[in-house]
Amino acid sequence: MKNIIFVAPPAAGKGTVSNFLTEKYGYIHISTGDLLRDARNNNDEIAKTITELMDSGKLVSDEIVLELLKRCIDNMDKSKKFILDGFPRNIAQANTLDDLFNELNITDYAVIYLDIDFDEALKRTLGRITCPNCKKGYNKYSTELKPKIDGICDNCGCSLITRSDDSEETFKIRFDNYMNETKPVLDYYKDKYKLVTISAKQDINNIYNSVEGVI
Ligand SMILES: [Zn+2]
Repeated sequence: MKNIIFVAPPAAGKGTVSNFLTEKYGYIHISTGDLLRDARNNNDEIAKTITELMDSGKLVSDEIVLELLKRCIDNMDKSKKFILDGFPRNIAQANTLDDLFNELNITDYAVIYLDIDFDEALKRTLGRITCPNCKKGYNKYSTELKPKIDGICDNCGCSLITRSDDSEETFKIRFDNYMNETKPVLDYYKDKYKLVTISAKQDINNIYNSVEGVI
């Protein structure tokens, strides 16, 4: 099996595919967002620095993220492979990640890009509904994820609500920013013959099959 760098626009289904890989193949899911949140809870210098930066609304430097990544991969069960999620977001980060991989002697990895167009991503995002009671998530436009009865939670029978932060406008900004930022990263890995593009528009089982073909 290969380590994976997972790149996907909002609403492409990265979470679903990550869960599939962790459950079926024992992948370790490394999200840089989670790493930062966890690191704040430690009682050390890095935790102090991160807390100060985040509390003052500043971005945490790539050096810190890299250091956390390094610790995480170093401490990982070496018989397992990882999925890296949320990093790299730009060329500078891709370069520093190369250095880290060299240092840790990681050569066997693939970059999986879950490709989705704006209209499809928007539809999925606007289709997201959740149960205010048990928090279960659904999607009214997905055959696999829609509730059995329209607008009603399968678990507890409560009325489902739309996620309030998902307006078309905010989603477009989020999606465009992501694409602008990520496009150069995709080109970078394409040039290194590490990039595999999988269409997120297919049936979920076809996506799983494609991903299994890569790993
Ligand atoms: Zn419920």
